[in-house]
Amino acid sequence: MIQDIYPHRFNNSYKPKTAAENDYILIFKNRSVLVHKYADDYSLPKYIEVKNSVNDKLRYIFSIEGENEKNYFLLYGECPDSIDKMIYLPLSEMRYIKGRSFKEMYYIVCTAFHLYKWYSDNIFCGGCSERLIHSDNQRMLMCCKCGREIYPRISPAVIIGVTNGDKILMSKYAGRAYKGYALLAGFAEIGETLEQTVQREVMEEAGLRVKNIRYYKSQPGGIDGNILAGFFCELDGDDTITIDKTELAEANWYSRADIPIEDDGYSLTREMIGVFKNGKI
Ligand SMILES: [Zn+2]
Repeated sequence: MIQDIYPHRFNNSYKPKTAAENDYILIFKNRSVLVHKYADDYSLPKYIEVKNSVNDKLRYIFSIEGENEKNYFLLYGECPDSIDKMIYLPLSEMRYIKGRSFKEMYYIVCTAFHLYKWYSDNIFCGGCSERLIHSDNQRMLMCCKCGREIYPRISPAVIIGVTNGDKILMSKYAGRAYKGYALLAGFAEIGETLEQTVQREVMEEAGLRVKNIRYYKSQPGGIDGNILAGFFCELDGDDTITIDKTELAEANWYSRADIPIEDDGYSLTREMIGVFKNGKI
């Protein structure tokens, strides 16, 4: 999955650092990120390459530890149209670009985008409209006038592998850019456990009852600001699928031998489908 960057290690403890020449800078414009594009690879710009264009409105966000520690900063000022020969790469295209070094970059960009969205959405206090300021010692925004404290928001969601003996339920979304196979999924609602989210989503989207709900693994989903929790569960009773056509274009049972996709090394959904296909669940 994209967060699996071993032997490197993600360190997101907040420090009020200042960018040095070789630190990396994340510059977002809408849902695109500024990158160098090479024949078959991409890289993020370094501070030395962009410092004349970004007015020093940079915030340290995290580092990746390894042989050399790499620090990442986010531009929170106005984004430049372009710098030298760099391009804005749409985040929606990144899931289709492969390569071990790119996977780590994709994870960095997704995680930085989650923070970019949070900072962009929290300029002023929601209680008194005062401009928020950043805490010196933690990732927290605060209002000096009314005392509100605002922490990064992460929305929990579930990915659901519904199994029925040798078969698993796979679906395709309605009305989304992604046209490939998926597992049922949905956000947790206020007042329910993640297991209840699993039961509710399967009933709403496919009209099925489930039992024996087991947690599998999780994955940060920075592009959508969430944390995905993967669950497997078993069909309980009638296997007749009734799809919610506002959410899904199709949903069907697939036996292990007929599953048409493989684990792509990026997504929790694909890993769960792969694990089932290989008979490990
Ligand atoms: Zn306030």
